Amino acid sequence: MSALPVPDFSGRTILVVLAHPDDESLACGGTLARLADAGARIVLLCASRGERGSVSDRALTANEDLGRVRSRELHDAAKILGIAEVRIFAHPDGDLRWADVPQFHVEIVLAIQRYKPDGVITFAEDGLYWHLDHIGVHERTYTAVKSFGPWAPPLYYVTMPQGLMQEIVDTAVANGLRPQSNPFNIEPDAFGDYAKPPTFVVDVHDWVPRKLAALRCHRSQIGPDHPFQHLTDEQARRLLGVEHFRLSPLEAAGHSVIEQLGEHVVNQ
Ligand SMILES: [Zn+2]
Repeated sequence: MSALPVPDFSGRTILVVLAHPDDESLACGGTLARLADAGARIVLLCASRGERGSVSDRALTANEDLGRVRSRELHDAAKILGIAEVRIFAHPDGDLRWADVPQFHVEIVLAIQRYKPDGVITFAEDGLYWHLDHIGVHERTYTAVKSFGPWAPPLYYVTMPQGLMQEIVDTAVANGLRPQSNPFNIEPDAFGDYAKPPTFVVDVHDWVPRKLAALRCHRSQIGPDHPFQHLTDEQARRLLGVEHFRLSPLEAAGHSVIEQLGEHVVNQ
């Protein structure tokens, strides 16, 4: 895939609703950078500070708590991706499916009223890998968008293809990563295992260096033993160069936006 027509998204806004610092870079960092380059204003709502996540290096949390470290990492990554505004909420990491449900619902509704987005991106029902926090954010975002009825902005679900994360790990191991290190705390094959097929994919090959740079801002999550640190530039470009989306069937007002970057997938 190569140079595609560059749409002008000046004056357009995309609202992204995710669970933890690093979700934005991992799930759709290339698309966010590409949208920003095309002129779109990207606003990210991050439901939690990720305070219950793993820590790659205890020295990073020697003087401050993990939530604060990860919040700063998110702001650094957002700068690289061109995200205009980051709002980090302090809903409890690990309990996003059940805790603060009415509050987070209202926050998303208010954000839609305030920013009037041309599209909203969140997780699909599978939460990338059945991560309950991600599923909770999907549920809150779906409900909040749906509450706008026929005036709702188009809602997009980001997914990962099944087998991709395993391929990334296998490639990193072939390059010398110790095979026993599993920084995801789950089987890599769980990524995308339950994902429904995308309705379109976005070519982000040329944005992979920024996606990787943004991912590497999340130092507390992506230490030297992480597979993303053990890919050649060419391997990263191949493995991280396509991002998957599915347009929600919810009734929506306005034209779909992100598909203008995408290539449609014909599903069986
Ligand atoms: Zn997450």
